[in-house]
Amino acid sequence: MSWFDTVAPDDDGSRALAGSAGSRGARAVGALDGRGRVAVESGPLPTLAWHVAAPGPALAGLLDELEHESLELLDDYDVVEFVAAAQRVAAWAHRLAVAGAGELATRESMHAPVEAELAHGLTPERIAGAELGLRLGITSRAGQDLARTGLALRRELAPTGDALRAGRIDAHKARTILDGLDGMPVPLVVAVQDAVLPRAARRTAGQLAADIRTAIVHLDPAEAARRHRDAAKGRHLAGPKVLPDGMAGLWLHTTATDAHAMYQAIDQAARSRRRAGDPRTLDQLRADLVCERILHGRTTDATAQATVRADVRVLVSLTTLLGTGDEPGELVGHGAIDPVTARALAAGGTWRRLVTDPTSGAVLDVGRTRYTPPADLAEHVRHRDRTCVHPTCQTPAWSSEIDHTVPYRPGRADGGSTAASNLAPLSKGCHQLKTHARFRLQQPTAGRFVWTTPTGHRYVHDPDPPAPGLARDHPLHEHRNTLRDLEPRPENGAQRRRPPGEPPRAGPGESETPPSSGSPPF
Ligand SMILES: [Zn+2]
Repeated sequence: MSWFDTVAPDDDGSRALAGSAGSRGARAVGALDGRGRVAVESGPLPTLAWHVAAPGPALAGLLDELEHESLELLDDYDVVEFVAAAQRVAAWAHRLAVAGAGELATRESMHAPVEAELAHGLTPERIAGAELGLRLGITSRAGQDLARTGLALRRELAPTGDALRAGRIDAHKARTILDGLDGMPVPLVVAVQDAVLPRAARRTAGQLAADIRTAIVHLDPAEAARRHRDAAKGRHLAGPKVLPDGMAGLWLHTTATDAHAMYQAIDQAARSRRRAGDPRTLDQLRADLVCERILHGRTTDATAQATVRADVRVLVSLTTLLGTGDEPGELVGHGAIDPVTARALAAGGTWRRLVTDPTSGAVLDVGRTRYTPPADLAEHVRHRDRTCVHPTCQTPAWSSEIDHTVPYRPGRADGGSTAASNLAPLSKGCHQLKTHARFRLQQPTAGRFVWTTPTGHRYVHDPDPPAPGLARDHPLHEHRNTLRDLEPRPENGAQRRRPPGEPPRAGPGESETPPSSGSPPF
């Protein structure tokens, strides 16, 4: 078969949604993952062999040739596929690099005497990192990350390594999986990896990190609660970080619930000031209000203060609330939280409690004693979709606009109805794509969305399916307890692992590695 032969779409049900096939037949890219939110990618043009070819020297050679000789001759659809193929090759090459880095870390030359490793944390990974850093012109920490990744991909994260080798995920996502599962018991690592990997291809690194957090909470709520208690002990406010032009940044590391509540309170106060005519931007107002409240203990604007109310939503299942079940809750805008925290939040405080049916996830009660129930359609649609319905956008539904999928045209037969099956939350940016940039959105059934891009790529977006929970008698729990007994974890000292999201602390003379998606922007 030649690179430019057409290939048939996989027989995975996607053709049912492929729409009207054009004169060149149906074109499908990738495979249905069966679990993901984005499952079908097919359009009106044929799939060529190189669109779906596995990465390797042959594909790299073809892309190089295309780039030199005929990139401008490719049609728009093929240019998108060219970028995708090049990224697959990059992922494949990264897999080679980390495999080598992991191998290096096993060599005798990378081993310090045992006492040096214990006293100074001179692990083989760290020494290999220093070795590679010099050769590659990167920090020792970045070199160490290559070695650490390579070693992990040899062991429990081998399926992640396979996905990287096949170009289904990129280096950043592999790192996201590694960091998200750092320090976890092996059976839980394997289970979470199994849960998130099948749909990682179409998830952004940020979404993947959220999937991992959600899977951990769903698979092992008790472990998640324990880890949260441990992590909360590490809360801190880092000293000011010097920034150019006389500026500085502050980084508060605290519980997700406190961080969301604080942000909501400040955000609402800022919006209230804007509505009252303050000329400052929302960004400026949020920054100024934090300073005012901390430095002066209160806002200088009494009317703004009176209107502030934290509006943080916590979804908690009825059985969890009653204490008869252990389903995780969800902090809207953040993701899953362990049942202990969810129960505690729902029991009181300033949170908006949304009680859900443990089997369907449908909202049963909205804390009627505190707030009016969301009887209207918009609230129903926001609960249904929870985020903007663009597949890679995570803007919370409550910060999004409610869009008529088929535009509402009063008095005209072709207008869309104001019904759940024709409404969806869209963030401002995604709304603009749909209205002005030839991104077409359809909603074949309520809550299922088909996007067609200007180049003819199609993406189906389904509501996020929850990860399966584990029964109380699942063997994973026993494995975990056994492992914990066998391998007591270092609780302090140089061996402490950096929790995901905590900014890396650079050694002397080193600059920090680039922040991951969860790190502050400095
Ligand atoms: Zn969006």
